[in-house]
Amino acid sequence: MDLLLKGKRALITGSTSGIGWATARELAAEGVHVILNGRDPTRLTSAIERIQSEFADAMVDGVAADLSSAAGCQQLLEAAGEIDILVNNLGIFEPKPFEQIVDEDWLRFFEVNVMSGVRLSRHHLALMKARNWGRIVFISSESGICPPAEMVHYGMSKSAQLSVSRALAETCTGTNVTVNSVLPGPTKTEGVGEFFATLARDAGQTLEQAEHDFFKFARPTSLLQRFIEPAEVAAMVAYVCSPRSAATNGAALHVEGGVVRSLI
Ligand code: NAD
Repeated sequence: MDLLLKGKRALITGSTSGIGWATARELAAEGVHVILNGRDPTRLTSAIERIQSEFADAMVDGVAADLSSAAGCQQLLEAAGEIDILVNNLGIFEPKPFEQIVDEDWLRFFEVNVMSGVRLSRHHLALMKARNWGRIVFISSESGICPPAEMVHYGMSKSAQLSVSRALAETCTGTNVTVNSVLPGPTKTEGVGEFFATLARDAGQTLEQAEHDFFKFARPTSLLQRFIEPAEVAAMVAYVCSPRSAATNGAALHVEGGVVRSLI
Protein backbone atom coordinates (compact mmCIF):
# COMPACT_ATOMS: atom_id res chain seq x y z
CA MET A 1 0.00 0.00 0.00
CA ASP A 2 1.34 3.43 -0.93
CA LEU A 3 0.96 5.50 2.23
CA LEU A 4 0.85 8.72 0.14
CA LEU A 5 3.52 10.24 2.37
CA LYS A 6 6.01 11.37 -0.30
CA GLY A 7 7.24 14.92 0.21
CA LYS A 8 5.96 15.32 3.76
CA ARG A 9 8.29 16.55 6.50
CA ALA A 10 8.41 14.74 9.85
CA LEU A 11 10.13 15.34 13.18
CA ILE A 12 10.66 12.29 15.39
CA THR A 13 11.97 12.94 18.90
CA GLY A 14 14.42 10.57 20.61
CA SER A 15 15.19 8.87 17.31
CA THR A 16 18.83 7.81 17.37
CA SER A 17 17.78 4.30 18.41
CA GLY A 18 14.82 2.10 19.32
CA ILE A 19 11.24 2.79 18.24
CA GLY A 20 12.08 6.37 17.25
CA TRP A 21 14.83 5.31 14.85
CA ALA A 22 12.69 2.52 13.40
CA THR A 23 9.91 5.08 12.81
CA ALA A 24 12.31 7.50 11.12
CA ARG A 25 13.58 4.67 8.92
CA GLU A 26 10.05 3.60 7.97
CA LEU A 27 8.99 7.17 7.12
CA ALA A 28 12.20 7.79 5.15
CA ALA A 29 11.49 4.62 3.17
CA GLU A 30 8.08 6.15 2.30
CA GLY A 31 9.75 9.27 0.89
CA VAL A 32 9.26 11.49 3.94
CA HIS A 33 11.91 14.12 4.74
CA VAL A 34 12.74 13.03 8.28
CA ILE A 35 14.36 15.06 11.05
CA LEU A 36 15.97 12.92 13.73
CA ASN A 37 16.72 14.04 17.28
CA GLY A 38 18.89 12.85 20.13
CA ARG A 39 21.27 14.39 22.62
CA ASP A 40 24.60 13.06 21.35
CA PRO A 41 25.80 14.48 17.99
CA THR A 42 27.91 11.38 17.27
CA ARG A 43 25.01 8.99 17.79
CA LEU A 44 22.83 11.33 15.75
CA THR A 45 25.23 11.26 12.80
CA SER A 46 25.44 7.48 13.00
CA ALA A 47 21.62 7.19 13.10
CA ILE A 48 21.32 9.39 10.00
CA GLU A 49 24.01 7.42 8.15
CA ARG A 50 22.29 4.10 8.93
CA ILE A 51 19.17 5.33 7.12
CA GLN A 52 21.10 6.88 4.22
CA SER A 53 23.12 3.71 3.68
CA GLU A 54 19.88 1.78 3.19
CA PHE A 55 17.98 4.35 1.13
CA ALA A 56 20.26 6.33 -1.17
CA ASP A 57 17.59 8.96 -1.93
CA ALA A 58 16.46 9.40 1.68
CA MET A 59 16.10 12.96 2.93
CA VAL A 60 17.40 12.87 6.49
CA ASP A 61 18.45 15.67 8.82
CA GLY A 62 19.18 15.71 12.52
CA VAL A 63 19.04 18.15 15.42
CA ALA A 64 21.00 17.45 18.60
CA ALA A 65 18.94 18.82 21.48
CA ASP A 66 18.18 17.68 25.02
CA LEU A 67 14.39 17.76 25.34
CA SER A 68 14.34 17.50 29.13
CA SER A 69 13.98 21.30 29.35
CA ALA A 70 11.96 24.09 27.75
CA ALA A 71 15.20 25.53 26.35
CA GLY A 72 16.09 22.24 24.66
CA CYS A 73 12.62 21.98 23.10
CA GLN A 74 12.87 25.57 21.86
CA GLN A 75 16.26 24.81 20.32
CA LEU A 76 14.74 21.87 18.44
CA LEU A 77 11.71 23.89 17.31
CA GLU A 78 13.91 26.61 15.85
CA ALA A 79 16.30 24.21 14.11
CA ALA A 80 13.65 21.86 12.69
CA GLY A 81 11.38 24.49 11.11
CA GLU A 82 7.99 23.66 9.60
CA ILE A 83 6.79 20.07 9.66
CA ASP A 84 3.71 18.10 8.60
CA ILE A 85 4.20 15.26 11.07
CA LEU A 86 5.33 15.26 14.70
CA VAL A 87 6.09 11.98 16.44
CA ASN A 88 6.51 12.55 20.20
CA ASN A 89 8.50 9.39 20.73
CA LEU A 90 11.01 10.43 23.39
CA GLY A 91 10.50 8.58 26.64
CA ILE A 92 12.64 7.33 29.51
CA PHE A 93 11.92 4.47 31.90
CA GLU A 94 13.50 3.21 35.13
CA PRO A 95 12.21 0.49 37.43
CA LYS A 96 12.29 1.84 41.04
CA PRO A 97 10.30 1.00 44.18
CA PHE A 98 7.61 3.64 44.80
CA GLU A 99 9.07 4.51 48.22
CA GLN A 100 12.38 5.46 46.56
CA ILE A 101 10.97 7.68 43.81
CA VAL A 102 11.89 11.15 45.03
CA ASP A 103 10.33 14.45 43.88
CA GLU A 104 13.16 15.05 41.41
CA ASP A 105 12.40 11.69 39.72
CA TRP A 106 8.70 12.54 39.41
CA LEU A 107 9.50 15.93 37.91
CA ARG A 108 12.13 14.50 35.54
CA PHE A 109 9.70 11.91 34.18
CA PHE A 110 7.04 14.59 33.74
CA GLU A 111 9.44 16.96 31.95
CA VAL A 112 10.93 14.36 29.59
CA ASN A 113 7.97 12.08 28.88
CA VAL A 114 5.08 14.57 29.00
CA MET A 115 6.31 18.16 28.64
CA SER A 116 8.59 17.49 25.64
CA GLY A 117 5.53 16.38 23.66
CA VAL A 118 3.35 19.14 25.11
CA ARG A 119 5.85 21.87 24.21
CA LEU A 120 6.43 20.65 20.65
CA SER A 121 2.71 20.04 20.05
CA ARG A 122 1.75 23.47 21.41
CA HIS A 123 3.95 25.05 18.74
CA HIS A 124 3.10 22.78 15.81
CA LEU A 125 -0.60 22.10 16.31
CA ALA A 126 -1.51 25.72 15.56
CA LEU A 127 0.62 25.70 12.40
CA MET A 128 -0.90 22.40 11.26
CA LYS A 129 -4.40 23.77 11.79
CA ALA A 130 -3.51 26.90 9.82
CA ARG A 131 -2.38 24.69 6.89
CA ASN A 132 -5.34 22.35 7.50
CA TRP A 133 -3.22 19.19 7.47
CA GLY A 134 -1.05 17.54 10.06
CA ARG A 135 -0.34 14.48 12.14
CA ILE A 136 0.75 14.32 15.76
CA VAL A 137 1.49 10.93 17.31
CA PHE A 138 2.35 10.36 20.95
CA ILE A 139 4.25 7.14 21.68
CA SER A 140 2.69 6.15 24.98
CA SER A 141 2.73 2.56 26.28
CA GLU A 142 0.56 -0.30 27.50
CA SER A 143 1.77 1.07 30.88
CA GLY A 144 -0.48 4.07 30.22
CA ILE A 145 -3.55 1.88 30.69
CA CYS A 146 -2.04 -0.88 32.89
CA PRO A 147 0.00 1.12 35.43
CA PRO A 148 3.17 -0.79 36.39
CA ALA A 149 3.82 -1.18 40.16
CA GLU A 150 7.58 -1.32 39.51
CA MET A 151 7.73 2.19 37.95
CA VAL A 152 4.73 4.21 39.09
CA HIS A 153 6.23 7.48 37.80
CA TYR A 154 6.66 6.06 34.30
CA GLY A 155 3.06 4.79 34.25
CA MET A 156 1.83 8.23 35.33
CA SER A 157 3.69 9.88 32.45
CA LYS A 158 2.32 7.41 29.89
CA SER A 159 -1.28 7.88 31.12
CA ALA A 160 -0.79 11.66 30.96
CA GLN A 161 0.25 11.39 27.31
CA LEU A 162 -3.00 9.57 26.51
CA SER A 163 -5.05 12.30 28.13
CA VAL A 164 -3.17 15.10 26.34
CA SER A 165 -3.38 13.28 23.01
CA ARG A 166 -7.14 12.74 23.19
CA ALA A 167 -7.78 16.30 24.35
CA LEU A 168 -5.67 17.76 21.51
CA ALA A 169 -7.64 15.66 19.02
CA GLU A 170 -10.83 17.20 20.46
CA THR A 171 -9.50 20.62 19.42
CA CYS A 172 -9.14 19.47 15.79
CA THR A 173 -12.86 19.04 15.00
CA GLY A 174 -13.57 19.59 11.32
CA THR A 175 -9.91 19.88 10.30
CA ASN A 176 -7.53 17.52 8.51
CA VAL A 177 -5.27 17.40 11.55
CA THR A 178 -5.23 14.26 13.67
CA VAL A 179 -3.70 13.52 17.05
CA ASN A 180 -3.37 9.89 18.12
CA SER A 181 -1.32 7.80 20.48
CA VAL A 182 0.33 4.45 19.97
CA LEU A 183 0.71 1.99 22.84
CA PRO A 184 3.67 -0.35 22.36
CA GLY A 185 4.19 -3.33 24.62
CA PRO A 186 7.56 -4.92 25.51
CA THR A 187 9.74 -4.03 22.53
CA LYS A 188 13.26 -5.25 21.79
CA THR A 189 15.13 -1.96 21.69
CA GLU A 190 18.83 -1.64 22.55
CA GLY A 191 18.09 -0.60 26.14
CA VAL A 192 15.61 -3.42 26.74
CA GLY A 193 18.01 -5.89 25.04
CA GLU A 194 20.91 -4.92 27.31
CA PHE A 195 18.71 -4.99 30.43
CA PHE A 196 17.50 -8.44 29.45
CA ALA A 197 20.96 -9.77 28.61
CA THR A 198 22.08 -8.84 32.14
CA LEU A 199 19.05 -10.56 33.69
CA ALA A 200 19.70 -13.70 31.63
CA ARG A 201 23.42 -13.74 32.50
CA ASP A 202 22.67 -13.35 36.22
CA ALA A 203 20.16 -16.22 36.05
CA GLY A 204 22.57 -18.43 34.06
CA GLN A 205 20.13 -18.58 31.12
CA THR A 206 20.43 -18.10 27.37
CA LEU A 207 18.61 -15.09 25.92
CA GLU A 208 16.05 -17.43 24.33
CA GLN A 209 15.31 -19.16 27.67
CA ALA A 210 15.05 -15.83 29.46
CA GLU A 211 12.66 -14.44 26.84
CA HIS A 212 10.56 -17.60 26.96
CA ASP A 213 10.34 -17.45 30.77
CA PHE A 214 9.65 -13.71 30.81
CA PHE A 215 6.57 -14.10 28.65
CA LYS A 216 5.43 -17.32 30.30
CA PHE A 217 5.64 -16.04 33.89
CA ALA A 218 5.83 -12.22 33.83
CA ARG A 219 3.66 -11.47 30.76
CA PRO A 220 1.39 -14.54 30.48
CA THR A 221 -1.37 -12.52 28.78
CA SER A 222 0.88 -11.69 25.83
CA LEU A 223 -0.61 -13.33 22.76
CA LEU A 224 2.65 -12.79 20.89
CA GLN A 225 4.83 -14.46 23.57
CA ARG A 226 7.95 -12.70 22.34
CA PHE A 227 9.34 -9.19 22.27
CA ILE A 228 7.88 -6.84 19.68
CA GLU A 229 10.37 -5.59 17.07
CA PRO A 230 10.76 -1.78 16.84
CA ALA A 231 9.85 -2.04 13.13
CA GLU A 232 6.51 -3.61 14.11
CA VAL A 233 5.64 -0.51 16.15
CA ALA A 234 7.02 1.77 13.42
CA ALA A 235 4.65 0.23 10.85
CA MET A 236 1.63 1.37 12.89
CA VAL A 237 3.14 4.80 13.46
CA ALA A 238 3.82 5.27 9.73
CA TYR A 239 0.22 4.35 8.92
CA VAL A 240 -1.26 6.77 11.45
CA CYS A 241 1.07 9.49 10.11
CA SER A 242 -0.28 8.98 6.60
CA PRO A 243 -3.19 10.60 4.75
CA ARG A 244 -4.69 7.08 4.62
CA SER A 245 -5.49 7.32 8.36
CA ALA A 246 -7.75 10.39 8.07
CA ALA A 247 -10.63 8.71 9.94
CA THR A 248 -8.47 7.71 12.90
CA ASN A 249 -8.39 10.63 15.33
CA GLY A 250 -8.18 10.76 19.12
CA ALA A 251 -7.40 7.03 19.18
CA ALA A 252 -5.12 5.00 21.40
CA LEU A 253 -3.73 2.33 19.07
CA HIS A 254 -2.47 -0.87 20.63
CA VAL A 255 0.78 -2.48 19.39
CA GLU A 256 1.38 -4.47 22.55
CA GLY A 257 1.21 -8.07 21.37
CA GLY A 258 -2.19 -8.61 23.01
CA VAL A 259 -0.83 -8.19 26.56
CA VAL A 260 -3.80 -5.99 27.48
CA ARG A 261 -6.87 -8.23 27.95
CA SER A 262 -9.45 -5.80 26.72
CA LEU A 263 -12.16 -5.72 24.06
CA ILE A 264 -11.22 -2.20 22.91
P1 NAD B 1 15.23 4.14 23.54
O1 NAD B 1 15.72 4.27 24.95
O2 NAD B 1 15.65 2.97 22.75
O3 NAD B 1 15.58 5.45 22.71
C1 NAD B 1 15.55 6.64 23.34
C2 NAD B 1 15.98 7.74 22.39
O4 NAD B 1 15.73 8.94 23.06
C3 NAD B 1 17.43 7.73 22.00
O5 NAD B 1 17.52 8.24 20.68
C4 NAD B 1 18.04 8.73 22.99
O6 NAD B 1 19.19 9.37 22.48
C5 NAD B 1 16.91 9.72 23.08
N1 NAD B 1 16.89 10.51 24.30
C6 NAD B 1 16.92 10.10 25.59
N2 NAD B 1 16.81 11.15 26.43
C7 NAD B 1 16.71 12.26 25.64
C8 NAD B 1 16.56 13.64 25.89
N3 NAD B 1 16.52 14.13 27.14
N4 NAD B 1 16.46 14.50 24.84
C9 NAD B 1 16.49 14.03 23.57
N5 NAD B 1 16.64 12.73 23.26
C10 NAD B 1 16.76 11.86 24.28
O7 NAD B 1 13.64 4.27 23.63
P2 NAD B 1 12.54 3.19 23.22
O8 NAD B 1 12.60 2.03 24.15
O9 NAD B 1 12.57 2.98 21.75
O10 NAD B 1 11.22 4.00 23.61
C11 NAD B 1 10.62 4.94 22.74
C12 NAD B 1 9.24 5.27 23.26
O11 NAD B 1 8.46 4.08 23.30
C13 NAD B 1 9.25 5.83 24.68
O12 NAD B 1 8.31 6.86 24.80
C14 NAD B 1 8.83 4.64 25.54
O13 NAD B 1 8.19 5.02 26.72
C15 NAD B 1 7.90 3.92 24.58
N6 NAD B 1 7.76 2.48 24.88
C16 NAD B 1 8.84 1.64 24.80
C17 NAD B 1 8.65 0.29 25.11
C18 NAD B 1 9.82 -0.69 25.03
O14 NAD B 1 9.64 -1.85 25.43
N7 NAD B 1 10.96 -0.32 24.51
C19 NAD B 1 7.42 -0.19 25.48
C20 NAD B 1 6.33 0.69 25.55
C21 NAD B 1 6.53 2.04 25.24
